[in-house]
Amino acid sequence: MTEDSVVFSELCKLFGGRMVTNAPLAHLTSSQVGGPADGLISVQTVDELVEVAWQLYKIQVPFLVLGGGSNVLVSDAGFRGVVIHNMARDVHFDMNSHPPTAWAASGANFGLLARKAVAKDLTGLEWAAGIPGSVGGAVIGNAGAHGSEMANNLILAEILHLFKGIEANNVTADSPKREEWPVNRFDFNYRSSNLKRKSKVKKNELLQNQTLQPEYIVLSALIRLEKGEKETIRRKLMEFSAYRQQTQPPGASMGSMFKNPPGDHAGRLIEAAGLKGMRVGQAEISKIHANFFINLGGATASEIWELIQLVNERVEDRFGIKLDLEIELIGDWIT
Ligand SMILES: Cc1cc2nc3c(=O)[nH]c(=O)nc-3n(C[C@H](O)[C@H](O)[C@H](O)COP(=O)(O)OP(=O)(O)OC[C@H]3O[C@@H](n4cnc5c(N)ncnc54)[C@H](O)[C@@H]3O)c2cc1C
Repeated sequence: MTEDSVVFSELCKLFGGRMVTNAPLAHLTSSQVGGPADGLISVQTVDELVEVAWQLYKIQVPFLVLGGGSNVLVSDAGFRGVVIHNMARDVHFDMNSHPPTAWAASGANFGLLARKAVAKDLTGLEWAAGIPGSVGGAVIGNAGAHGSEMANNLILAEILHLFKGIEANNVTADSPKREEWPVNRFDFNYRSSNLKRKSKVKKNELLQNQTLQPEYIVLSALIRLEKGEKETIRRKLMEFSAYRQQTQPPGASMGSMFKNPPGDHAGRLIEAAGLKGMRVGQAEISKIHANFFINLGGATASEIWELIQLVNERVEDRFGIKLDLEIELIGDWIT
Protein backbone atom coordinates (compact mmCIF):
# COMPACT_ATOMS: atom_id res chain seq x y z
CA MET A 1 0.00 0.00 0.00
CA THR A 2 1.60 3.28 -1.05
CA GLU A 3 0.81 6.63 0.55
CA ASP A 4 -0.76 7.90 -2.66
CA SER A 5 -3.02 4.84 -3.15
CA VAL A 6 -6.82 5.06 -3.00
CA VAL A 7 -6.99 2.53 -0.17
CA PHE A 8 -4.50 4.52 1.88
CA SER A 9 -6.46 7.76 1.53
CA GLU A 10 -9.67 5.87 2.42
CA LEU A 11 -7.93 4.60 5.56
CA CYS A 12 -6.78 8.09 6.51
CA LYS A 13 -10.33 9.39 5.97
CA LEU A 14 -11.81 6.63 8.15
CA PHE A 15 -9.35 6.72 11.03
CA GLY A 16 -7.74 10.17 10.82
CA GLY A 17 -5.41 10.82 13.76
CA ARG A 18 -6.27 7.45 15.32
CA MET A 19 -3.97 5.79 12.80
CA VAL A 20 -0.20 6.28 12.93
CA THR A 21 1.24 5.93 9.45
CA ASN A 22 4.55 4.28 8.60
CA ALA A 23 4.59 3.14 12.23
CA PRO A 24 7.67 1.37 13.65
CA LEU A 25 6.78 -2.06 15.08
CA ALA A 26 10.08 -3.12 16.68
CA HIS A 27 9.28 -1.53 20.05
CA LEU A 28 5.94 -3.39 20.13
CA THR A 29 7.70 -6.75 19.95
CA SER A 30 9.70 -8.57 22.64
CA SER A 31 12.60 -9.13 20.22
CA GLN A 32 12.74 -5.39 19.39
CA VAL A 33 13.14 -6.23 15.72
CA GLY A 34 11.29 -5.44 12.50
CA GLY A 35 10.28 -2.66 10.12
CA PRO A 36 7.20 -0.41 10.06
CA ALA A 37 3.52 -1.08 9.34
CA ASP A 38 1.71 1.13 6.82
CA GLY A 39 -0.75 1.94 9.59
CA LEU A 40 -1.00 1.28 13.32
CA ILE A 41 -4.23 1.64 15.30
CA SER A 42 -4.27 1.06 19.06
CA VAL A 43 -7.51 -0.12 20.64
CA GLN A 44 -8.32 0.14 24.37
CA THR A 45 -11.52 -1.91 24.64
CA VAL A 46 -13.07 -5.04 23.15
CA ASP A 47 -15.81 -2.98 21.46
CA GLU A 48 -13.18 -0.73 19.89
CA LEU A 49 -11.32 -3.82 18.64
CA VAL A 50 -14.54 -5.06 17.02
CA GLU A 51 -15.32 -1.65 15.51
CA VAL A 52 -11.83 -1.17 13.97
CA ALA A 53 -11.72 -4.73 12.64
CA TRP A 54 -15.20 -4.25 11.09
CA GLN A 55 -14.06 -1.15 9.22
CA LEU A 56 -10.93 -2.89 7.95
CA TYR A 57 -12.91 -5.95 6.83
CA LYS A 58 -15.31 -3.65 4.97
CA ILE A 59 -12.64 -1.80 2.99
CA GLN A 60 -10.70 -5.04 2.48
CA VAL A 61 -7.36 -3.81 3.76
CA PRO A 62 -4.76 -6.37 4.87
CA PHE A 63 -4.49 -6.29 8.65
CA LEU A 64 -3.49 -8.28 11.71
CA VAL A 65 -3.90 -8.08 15.47
CA LEU A 66 -0.78 -7.71 17.60
CA GLY A 67 -0.91 -8.56 21.31
CA GLY A 68 2.32 -8.58 23.28
CA GLY A 69 4.38 -9.15 20.11
CA SER A 70 6.21 -11.92 21.98
CA ASN A 71 5.66 -14.71 19.48
CA VAL A 72 6.33 -12.95 16.18
CA LEU A 73 9.28 -12.03 14.00
CA VAL A 74 8.47 -8.96 11.91
CA SER A 75 10.47 -8.70 8.68
CA ASP A 76 12.86 -5.77 8.23
CA ALA A 77 10.55 -4.41 5.51
CA GLY A 78 7.66 -4.41 7.99
CA PHE A 79 4.00 -5.13 7.26
CA ARG A 80 2.07 -3.83 4.25
CA GLY A 81 -1.27 -3.15 5.83
CA VAL A 82 -2.67 -2.13 9.20
CA VAL A 83 -1.63 -3.50 12.58
CA ILE A 84 -4.24 -3.30 15.33
CA HIS A 85 -2.33 -3.03 18.60
CA ASN A 86 -4.59 -4.72 21.12
CA MET A 87 -4.54 -2.78 24.38
CA ALA A 88 -7.99 -3.96 25.53
CA ARG A 89 -6.82 -4.96 29.00
CA ASP A 90 -9.89 -5.16 31.27
CA VAL A 91 -9.94 -8.02 33.74
CA HIS A 92 -12.75 -9.08 36.16
CA PHE A 93 -12.73 -11.87 38.71
CA ASP A 94 -15.90 -13.63 39.80
CA MET A 95 -15.14 -15.10 43.22
CA ASN A 96 -18.70 -16.33 43.76
CA SER A 97 -19.20 -18.41 40.63
CA HIS A 98 -18.55 -22.17 40.77
CA PRO A 99 -15.72 -22.49 39.91
CA PRO A 100 -14.34 -18.96 40.44
CA THR A 101 -13.42 -17.37 37.10
CA ALA A 102 -11.42 -14.58 35.52
CA TRP A 103 -12.80 -12.77 32.50
CA ALA A 104 -10.08 -10.99 30.53
CA ALA A 105 -10.16 -8.80 27.45
CA SER A 106 -7.84 -10.33 24.85
CA GLY A 107 -5.20 -7.58 25.14
CA ALA A 108 -4.69 -8.22 28.88
CA ASN A 109 -1.21 -9.42 29.78
CA PHE A 110 -1.50 -13.14 30.54
CA GLY A 111 1.33 -13.22 33.09
CA LEU A 112 -0.13 -10.26 34.97
CA LEU A 113 -3.56 -11.92 35.00
CA ALA A 114 -1.96 -15.01 36.59
CA ARG A 115 -0.28 -12.89 39.27
CA LYS A 116 -3.58 -11.06 39.98
CA ALA A 117 -5.24 -14.46 40.48
CA VAL A 118 -2.51 -15.43 42.96
CA ALA A 119 -3.04 -12.16 44.86
CA LYS A 120 -6.71 -13.20 45.26
CA ASP A 121 -5.69 -16.67 46.58
CA LEU A 122 -6.95 -18.29 43.40
CA THR A 123 -4.99 -21.23 42.06
CA GLY A 124 -4.68 -22.87 38.62
CA LEU A 125 -2.86 -20.21 36.64
CA GLU A 126 0.50 -20.00 38.45
CA TRP A 127 2.19 -21.68 35.46
CA ALA A 128 1.39 -18.64 33.30
CA ALA A 129 2.96 -15.99 35.54
CA GLY A 130 6.12 -15.68 33.40
CA ILE A 131 4.45 -15.55 29.99
CA PRO A 132 4.91 -12.08 28.49
CA GLY A 133 2.15 -12.11 25.82
CA SER A 134 -1.55 -11.26 25.78
CA VAL A 135 -4.53 -13.46 26.64
CA GLY A 136 -5.54 -13.44 22.94
CA GLY A 137 -2.09 -14.61 21.85
CA ALA A 138 -2.19 -17.32 24.54
CA VAL A 139 -5.54 -18.62 23.22
CA ILE A 140 -4.38 -18.62 19.58
CA GLY A 141 -1.12 -20.44 20.40
CA ASN A 142 -2.33 -22.54 23.39
CA ALA A 143 0.46 -21.04 25.52
CA GLY A 144 1.83 -23.42 28.10
CA ALA A 145 4.53 -23.95 30.70
CA HIS A 146 5.44 -26.24 33.59
CA GLY A 147 3.21 -29.04 32.27
CA SER A 148 0.05 -26.90 31.91
CA GLU A 149 -1.44 -25.01 29.01
CA MET A 150 -4.30 -22.68 28.11
CA ALA A 151 -6.45 -25.66 27.09
CA ASN A 152 -6.63 -26.74 30.77
CA ASN A 153 -7.88 -23.37 32.03
CA LEU A 154 -10.06 -21.94 29.30
CA ILE A 155 -13.84 -22.23 29.71
CA LEU A 156 -14.75 -20.23 26.62
CA ALA A 157 -13.55 -17.33 24.50
CA GLU A 158 -15.43 -14.74 22.53
CA ILE A 159 -14.39 -14.66 18.89
CA LEU A 160 -15.02 -12.22 16.06
CA HIS A 161 -15.54 -14.60 13.16
CA LEU A 162 -15.50 -13.40 9.57
CA PHE A 163 -17.99 -15.39 7.51
CA LYS A 164 -17.08 -15.42 3.87
CA GLY A 165 -19.57 -14.83 1.09
CA ILE A 166 -22.86 -14.13 2.88
CA GLU A 167 -25.54 -13.19 0.34
CA ALA A 168 -27.22 -9.82 0.94
CA ASN A 169 -29.33 -8.11 -1.75
CA ASN A 170 -27.66 -10.28 -4.37
CA VAL A 171 -24.27 -8.94 -3.34
CA THR A 172 -21.75 -11.31 -1.83
CA ALA A 173 -20.40 -9.65 1.26
CA ASP A 174 -18.24 -10.80 4.12
CA SER A 175 -19.75 -10.41 7.52
CA PRO A 176 -18.05 -10.67 10.93
CA LYS A 177 -20.04 -12.10 13.87
CA ARG A 178 -19.34 -12.25 17.61
CA GLU A 179 -19.53 -15.84 18.87
CA GLU A 180 -18.79 -17.60 22.16
CA TRP A 181 -16.65 -20.68 21.61
CA PRO A 182 -16.41 -23.32 24.33
CA VAL A 183 -12.92 -24.71 24.91
CA ASN A 184 -13.47 -27.91 22.89
CA ARG A 185 -14.16 -25.90 19.73
CA PHE A 186 -10.52 -24.74 19.63
CA ASP A 187 -9.20 -28.27 19.12
CA PHE A 188 -6.07 -27.31 21.05
CA ASN A 189 -2.83 -29.23 20.74
CA TYR A 190 0.83 -28.47 21.51
CA ARG A 191 1.27 -24.67 21.06
CA SER A 192 -1.57 -24.60 18.56
CA SER A 193 -5.32 -24.17 18.09
CA ASN A 194 -7.50 -24.64 15.05
CA LEU A 195 -7.53 -20.82 14.68
CA LYS A 196 -3.73 -20.82 14.35
CA ARG A 197 -3.77 -23.81 11.98
CA LYS A 198 -6.45 -22.24 9.77
CA SER A 199 -4.60 -18.92 9.59
CA LYS A 200 -1.40 -20.77 8.56
CA VAL A 201 -3.23 -22.61 5.77
CA LYS A 202 -4.85 -19.36 4.63
CA LYS A 203 -1.48 -17.52 4.48
CA ASN A 204 0.03 -20.37 2.44
CA GLU A 205 -2.88 -20.57 0.03
CA LEU A 206 -3.66 -16.90 -0.36
CA LEU A 207 -4.95 -16.37 -3.89
CA GLN A 208 -3.96 -13.46 -6.07
CA ASN A 209 -6.05 -10.37 -5.22
CA GLN A 210 -7.16 -11.96 -1.94
CA THR A 211 -6.60 -9.78 1.12
CA LEU A 212 -4.66 -11.02 4.14
CA GLN A 213 -7.12 -10.56 6.98
CA PRO A 214 -7.62 -12.72 10.07
CA GLU A 215 -10.71 -14.88 9.79
CA TYR A 216 -10.89 -15.10 13.59
CA ILE A 217 -10.06 -12.53 16.26
CA VAL A 218 -10.02 -13.44 19.94
CA LEU A 219 -11.96 -10.77 21.84
CA SER A 220 -11.95 -12.09 25.41
CA ALA A 221 -11.51 -15.25 27.44
CA LEU A 222 -13.21 -16.78 30.48
CA ILE A 223 -10.73 -18.71 32.60
CA ARG A 224 -11.35 -21.37 35.24
CA LEU A 225 -9.68 -20.97 38.65
CA GLU A 226 -10.01 -22.56 42.08
CA LYS A 227 -9.91 -21.25 45.62
CA GLY A 228 -6.58 -22.25 47.10
CA GLU A 229 -4.37 -22.01 50.13
CA LYS A 230 -2.38 -18.75 50.23
CA GLU A 231 1.03 -20.20 51.15
CA THR A 232 0.83 -23.15 48.74
CA ILE A 233 -0.09 -20.88 45.82
CA ARG A 234 2.70 -18.42 46.57
CA ARG A 235 5.27 -21.21 46.95
CA LYS A 236 4.27 -22.66 43.58
CA LEU A 237 4.58 -19.23 41.94
CA MET A 238 8.05 -18.72 43.42
CA GLU A 239 9.23 -22.19 42.34
CA PHE A 240 8.07 -21.58 38.77
CA SER A 241 9.66 -18.15 38.54
CA ALA A 242 12.95 -19.41 40.07
CA TYR A 243 12.99 -22.21 37.46
CA ARG A 244 12.46 -19.68 34.66
CA GLN A 245 15.26 -17.47 35.96
CA GLN A 246 17.65 -20.42 36.08
CA THR A 247 16.83 -21.84 32.65
CA GLN A 248 15.90 -18.88 30.44
CA PRO A 249 18.27 -16.19 29.24
CA PRO A 250 17.60 -12.50 29.88
CA GLY A 251 17.52 -10.10 26.92
CA ALA A 252 15.25 -9.37 23.97
CA SER A 253 13.93 -12.59 22.41
CA MET A 254 10.77 -14.34 21.24
CA GLY A 255 10.98 -17.10 23.85
CA SER A 256 11.27 -20.54 22.25
CA MET A 257 12.04 -20.22 18.54
CA PHE A 258 11.14 -23.81 17.56
CA LYS A 259 8.56 -26.29 18.82
CA ASN A 260 9.95 -29.34 20.57
CA PRO A 261 9.76 -32.34 18.21
CA PRO A 262 8.02 -35.44 19.65
CA GLY A 263 10.17 -37.01 22.38
CA ASP A 264 12.96 -34.44 22.21
CA HIS A 265 13.81 -30.79 22.85
CA ALA A 266 14.62 -28.28 20.12
CA GLY A 267 17.19 -26.64 22.45
CA ARG A 268 19.01 -29.94 23.00
CA LEU A 269 19.16 -30.63 19.25
CA ILE A 270 20.45 -27.13 18.44
CA GLU A 271 23.11 -27.45 21.14
CA ALA A 272 24.09 -30.95 19.94
CA ALA A 273 24.43 -29.54 16.41
CA GLY A 274 27.13 -27.22 17.80
CA LEU A 275 25.16 -24.02 17.36
CA LYS A 276 24.84 -22.74 20.94
CA GLY A 277 26.33 -19.24 21.10
CA MET A 278 26.43 -18.89 17.27
CA ARG A 279 26.12 -15.26 16.16
CA VAL A 280 25.09 -13.48 12.97
CA GLY A 281 25.60 -9.75 13.38
CA GLN A 282 23.84 -8.76 16.58
CA ALA A 283 21.65 -11.89 16.73
CA GLU A 284 22.80 -14.78 18.90
CA ILE A 285 21.64 -18.32 19.69
CA SER A 286 21.68 -18.03 23.46
CA LYS A 287 24.58 -19.56 25.35
CA ILE A 288 22.14 -20.35 28.19
CA HIS A 289 19.26 -21.93 26.23
CA ALA A 290 19.84 -22.78 22.56
CA ASN A 291 16.14 -22.44 21.62
CA PHE A 292 16.22 -18.73 22.54
CA PHE A 293 17.57 -16.31 19.92
CA ILE A 294 18.73 -13.05 21.49
CA ASN A 295 18.86 -9.58 20.01
CA LEU A 296 22.11 -8.29 21.52
CA GLY A 297 21.16 -4.74 20.48
CA GLY A 298 20.33 -3.54 16.99
CA ALA A 299 19.88 -7.02 15.44
CA THR A 300 17.89 -7.20 12.21
CA ALA A 301 15.17 -9.68 11.30
CA SER A 302 17.38 -10.92 8.44
CA GLU A 303 20.15 -11.77 10.92
CA ILE A 304 17.72 -13.78 13.04
CA TRP A 305 16.39 -15.41 9.86
CA GLU A 306 19.94 -16.48 8.91
CA LEU A 307 20.27 -18.20 12.28
CA ILE A 308 16.89 -19.91 11.81
CA GLN A 309 17.99 -21.28 8.44
CA LEU A 310 21.33 -22.40 9.82
CA VAL A 311 19.58 -24.31 12.61
CA ASN A 312 17.09 -25.88 10.17
CA GLU A 313 19.87 -27.10 7.88
CA ARG A 314 22.27 -28.34 10.57
CA VAL A 315 19.64 -30.12 12.69
CA GLU A 316 18.16 -31.83 9.64
CA ASP A 317 21.65 -32.83 8.37
CA ARG A 318 22.76 -34.21 11.73
CA PHE A 319 19.58 -35.78 13.09
CA GLY A 320 17.16 -35.99 10.14
CA ILE A 321 14.67 -33.88 12.11
CA LYS A 322 12.82 -30.95 10.54
CA LEU A 323 12.21 -28.39 13.25
CA ASP A 324 8.95 -26.47 13.13
CA LEU A 325 8.91 -22.74 13.99
CA GLU A 326 6.94 -21.89 17.13
CA ILE A 327 7.01 -18.16 16.34
CA GLU A 328 5.06 -16.55 13.51
CA LEU A 329 6.63 -14.65 10.64
CA ILE A 330 4.99 -11.29 9.93
CA GLY A 331 5.47 -9.35 6.68
CA ASP A 332 7.19 -10.53 3.52
CA TRP A 333 9.48 -13.52 3.85
CA ILE A 334 10.93 -15.78 1.20
CA THR A 335 10.71 -19.12 3.03
C1 LIG B 1 10.88 -14.40 27.38
C2 LIG B 1 9.74 -15.15 26.77
C3 LIG B 1 9.24 -16.27 27.43
C4 LIG B 1 8.17 -16.99 26.87
N1 LIG B 1 7.70 -18.08 27.55
C5 LIG B 1 6.67 -18.77 27.03
C6 LIG B 1 6.14 -19.92 27.70
O1 LIG B 1 6.58 -20.30 28.77
N2 LIG B 1 5.12 -20.58 27.11
C7 LIG B 1 4.56 -20.19 25.93
O2 LIG B 1 3.62 -20.83 25.46
N3 LIG B 1 5.05 -19.11 25.28
C8 LIG B 1 6.05 -18.39 25.79
N4 LIG B 1 6.54 -17.30 25.11
C9 LIG B 1 5.97 -16.94 23.81
C10 LIG B 1 4.79 -15.95 23.86
O3 LIG B 1 4.86 -15.15 25.02
C11 LIG B 1 3.45 -16.68 23.82
O4 LIG B 1 3.35 -17.44 22.66
C12 LIG B 1 2.27 -15.69 23.90
O5 LIG B 1 1.08 -16.40 24.15
C13 LIG B 1 2.11 -14.86 22.63
O6 LIG B 1 1.15 -13.84 22.88
P1 LIG B 1 1.30 -12.40 22.23
O7 LIG B 1 0.16 -11.58 22.68
O8 LIG B 1 2.64 -11.85 22.47
O9 LIG B 1 1.13 -12.77 20.70
P2 LIG B 1 1.69 -11.91 19.47
O10 LIG B 1 3.15 -12.19 19.34
O11 LIG B 1 1.25 -10.51 19.58
O12 LIG B 1 0.91 -12.61 18.26
C14 LIG B 1 1.13 -13.96 17.94
C15 LIG B 1 0.12 -14.37 16.84
O13 LIG B 1 -1.21 -14.35 17.38
C16 LIG B 1 -2.02 -13.42 16.67
N5 LIG B 1 -2.86 -12.75 17.65
C17 LIG B 1 -2.47 -12.09 18.78
N6 LIG B 1 -3.56 -11.66 19.46
C18 LIG B 1 -4.64 -12.03 18.74
C19 LIG B 1 -6.05 -11.87 18.93
N7 LIG B 1 -6.58 -11.23 19.97
N8 LIG B 1 -6.85 -12.40 17.99
C20 LIG B 1 -6.36 -13.03 16.90
N9 LIG B 1 -5.04 -13.21 16.67
C21 LIG B 1 -4.20 -12.72 17.58
C22 LIG B 1 -1.06 -12.45 15.99
O14 LIG B 1 -1.64 -11.88 14.83
C23 LIG B 1 0.10 -13.39 15.65
O15 LIG B 1 -0.21 -14.11 14.49
C24 LIG B 1 7.60 -16.57 25.65
C25 LIG B 1 8.10 -15.43 25.00
C26 LIG B 1 9.16 -14.72 25.56
C27 LIG B 1 9.66 -13.51 24.86
